[in-house]
Amino acid sequence: MSELFEKLQPHLDKAYAYRVAMTMLNWDNSTAAPKEAIDFTSKAMAILSGENYKALINDVVKGLLQQLSTDEENAKLTPYEKAIVKNMKKEFRNMELIPPEELQAFEIVLAKAYPVWEEAKNTNNYSIYAPVLEEIISYTKRFAGYKQKPGQKLYDVLLDEYEEGFTMEILDEFFCQLREALIPLVAQIRKKPDWISIDCLRKNYDIETQKKLSHFLAEYIGFDFNRGVMAESAHPFTTNLHNHDVRITNHYLENKLEDAIFSIIHEGGHALYEMDIDDAITTSPIGGGTSMGMHESQSRFYENNLGRSMEFWKPLFGKVCEFFPEELKDVTLEEFYKAINYAKPSLIRTQADELTYSFHIMIRYEIEKMIFDGDVDVKELPRIWNEKYEEYLGMTPENDAEGILQDMHWAGGSFGYFPSYALGSAIAAQLFHYMEGVMPVKKYLEEGNLVPVREFLCEHIHKYGGSKNTQELLLDTVGEAFNPKYYIEYLTEKYTKLYEL
Ligand code: ZN
Repeated sequence: MSELFEKLQPHLDKAYAYRVAMTMLNWDNSTAAPKEAIDFTSKAMAILSGENYKALINDVVKGLLQQLSTDEENAKLTPYEKAIVKNMKKEFRNMELIPPEELQAFEIVLAKAYPVWEEAKNTNNYSIYAPVLEEIISYTKRFAGYKQKPGQKLYDVLLDEYEEGFTMEILDEFFCQLREALIPLVAQIRKKPDWISIDCLRKNYDIETQKKLSHFLAEYIGFDFNRGVMAESAHPFTTNLHNHDVRITNHYLENKLEDAIFSIIHEGGHALYEMDIDDAITTSPIGGGTSMGMHESQSRFYENNLGRSMEFWKPLFGKVCEFFPEELKDVTLEEFYKAINYAKPSLIRTQADELTYSFHIMIRYEIEKMIFDGDVDVKELPRIWNEKYEEYLGMTPENDAEGILQDMHWAGGSFGYFPSYALGSAIAAQLFHYMEGVMPVKKYLEEGNLVPVREFLCEHIHKYGGSKNTQELLLDTVGEAFNPKYYIEYLTEKYTKLYEL
């Protein structure tokens, strides 16, 4: 290790310790903590968050990063160390550009925004939320302006924060291709609403048995319970302290068996990514998955490309029947496979099927573009939202609670984040297409052997953590930059066959 980098190490370790503590508290809040704990616990979390900031953003670290960036010193670093320095410099630059008093004022706005959004959603009253949303947008615009490079568009600043190197140019093309290919496909499927029956998933599935099945499925795809735990929470999620402590949650609905099954496979995909990150960087600032989009690609890869394929269930369906012998006794593998792939346009993003999911993201993307790259009155947003749902999915929300108020992302100041969900699905399809060319993926699935697939992802994607960005990982793995073509081909082929179009 370079002598200079060694001086940086204690700062990294200190920040890591704060991150671990905050992650633990967050996990506890969502799983085990009593309902009323949050007020006082959040006070401790705010202090830890401040200390974490101070551990990394200070003059000593700044000086070290400057010295480590000189050609002579940088040449002494390992690739991982170089990536850590690069990552921290970016963080530093972003933080420094925003005056601390403005950042603090924004945090206060955000803290009050969440309960306002919640009330607006519960009472179906957008008008109480609009002024807060307007305030959040105005701060976000101002902050993006501080970071804007000459000639860069404002919304591109936000997109780049979540997915480095991705711009409106790339995303416009992506969504344009999606629209052209999928709108006619969805229209055809709408004409066959009874083609697939989902009755077999709507019986009374005992929750305790669903938990056992979830545990079994997590283990089946490779989740290591010696390095991970599974709990229950309102919304399933994955978090981790490091690669030896990865935590997933699931939720259970008695008459929606697919919910628990695909949530656990999805979170399992996130978890495998974190478990596979190289020991050398797991406690460093680049010790997590590289981006939200790449993370989502791994979860969707397991959930959809593997988990919703016929081959995946061939060796498994019999096992599922052993968990629910009564409920599934007259159900065939074919019926089960069709039911888990049922597609129908809907109003709520989180309940959308694999085919129509990206439309929900496209609508949010287009609205965010209007906000940051155009000029739109915040009061007009519900109308625009509803019109877009009518245009793309052929349905209009009855009220704003099932329309624009359904997601909390904007209330949390997350603009530019939504596209990552759709990118994740498209990246997953691109990886899947490539892997099928270099290994018999479907044969492995039929044999119940997921090891080669996992090893491939670990070797090419997972182990690098945040040391390479999404485009770099794709170029190095499949020899091509992001390309939405494979996702469109995958969906078109799958649903044409499934619905016999
Ligand atoms: Zn996810």
